[in-house]
Amino acid sequence: MIKGSCLCGKISYKISSPIGEITHCHCTTCRKAHGSAFSSVAAVSIDNFELISGKKLLKHYSSSPDKARYFCSNCGSHIYAHREGQSHYIFRLGTLDDDPQTRPSNHIWVSLKAPWYDLKTDCSLPKHEKWAEGR
Ligand SMILES: [Zn+2]
Ligand SMILES: [Zn+2]
Repeated sequence: MIKGSCLCGKISYKISSPIGEITHCHCTTCRKAHGSAFSSVAAVSIDNFELISGKKLLKHYSSSPDKARYFCSNCGSHIYAHREGQSHYIFRLGTLDDDPQTRPSNHIWVSLKAPWYDLKTDCSLPKHEKWAEGR
């Protein structure tokens, strides 16, 4: 059982199966939708996803004719995307409250990545447990 919730907490859910392979997606629509360098996603079978609260707040935006991106209309957290006819959600991992145990295995749409984000140097950047001192 893996639990998660949106930023405002009004949407909460649980996933009753291990999640699939974790992918970092650098496509332009993911970057825009999430306001970030990339989105971290994994497939979750629709049968194994249960919305606990906030159904009325879950709105979607169709970023392409067959793909809808679902988010909390109160706080903006993206929860999952769904491509018409597929039996799984393309789950957005940022709203997980539990550790899914699975670890990222690849980056996709690197051809569309943000020009300011450098995959090669990312891991060697200084790491701070909290705020960087003096900023
Ligand atoms: Zn919310
Ligand atoms: Zn994407």
